[in-house]
Amino acid sequence: MQYKLKFSPYKRKFKQPLKTNHGIWNIREGTILQLTSKTGEIGLGEIAPLSWFGSETLSEVLDFCHQLPKEITTETIFSIPDNLPSCKFGFESAWENFQQLEIEEKEEFKNPNFYSALLPGGKAALEIWQQLWQKGYRTFKWKIGVDKIQTELEIFQQLVKELPTEINLRLDANGGLTFEEAKKWLEICENINIIEFIEQPLPVDKFWEMLDLSNSYSTPIALDESVANLSKMQQYYQQGWQGIFVIKPAIFGSRAELRNFCQNYPIDAVFSSVFETKIARKAALQLATELQPNLRKNRAFGFGVTHFFDEDRAHTDLATNTRMDIDTFLV
Ligand code: MG
Repeated sequence: MQYKLKFSPYKRKFKQPLKTNHGIWNIREGTILQLTSKTGEIGLGEIAPLSWFGSETLSEVLDFCHQLPKEITTETIFSIPDNLPSCKFGFESAWENFQQLEIEEKEEFKNPNFYSALLPGGKAALEIWQQLWQKGYRTFKWKIGVDKIQTELEIFQQLVKELPTEINLRLDANGGLTFEEAKKWLEICENINIIEFIEQPLPVDKFWEMLDLSNSYSTPIALDESVANLSKMQQYYQQGWQGIFVIKPAIFGSRAELRNFCQNYPIDAVFSSVFETKIARKAALQLATELQPNLRKNRAFGFGVTHFFDEDRAHTDLATNTRMDIDTFLV
């Protein structure tokens, strides 16, 4: 099979910059892919890299797309090298979209209870959580490791006091804690029932320390930055990680290989967003929904991030610097 390839880079501005231990993020950039068959059928995909998280860079993505011929084959799609994980996801999504292998969009995709909503960092969380609660979210995530630990612990105590007991709260340090600080957070969390897990307390080179922590405290630990792609997850699984893996499908690599892994190994995992547009979001949620029954636990999907952007309708085409209606891609 031969497909005509078109790609269209985009830019989306966060309503408010996203602040994590990695720094401040203002603009999400990526590219939309379109495959067209000889008979005119269309398959869409999206490449949404996150280089500071461990994926390839946007310029590597664009270089790769530019050097491809105008017409590509299924073989081209399934021979993308492992060092381009978000390209693998984007091209395979477009191919599956084209093959119509995807599951119909499910009703639960619209249910906020299905997602974990990302709270803004710092004190702003105290002002926003009620709005998200009223929208129906029952799982929240709050970033830590951004400010001084003492300041964050004070806000945390306040937040925990205010939150209803049926909430699940995830704490995400983005690798920003020291071993001592991580122990302190875990000790405090021992007595708080609403904590679902602490995500990536230590930097990626501290795997054995995180394994040690996960064996010492009852609050589960999730690896996120440590498992930026499938081969990393395979590695840490082999090294004995029994805790949670955060899987960000859009940068994880091959959809086919991820299916294969989840069907063979019963892991505990959380699927999560990389602030992609609705093209990759739909492709990621479809894969997540398909794989969820293989996982050890049903955990809310970390895709409650749409409130960080304005309506997901338009994006700027970098090539022509014009605003484009993203819905025109979603035929
Ligand atoms: Mg995280």
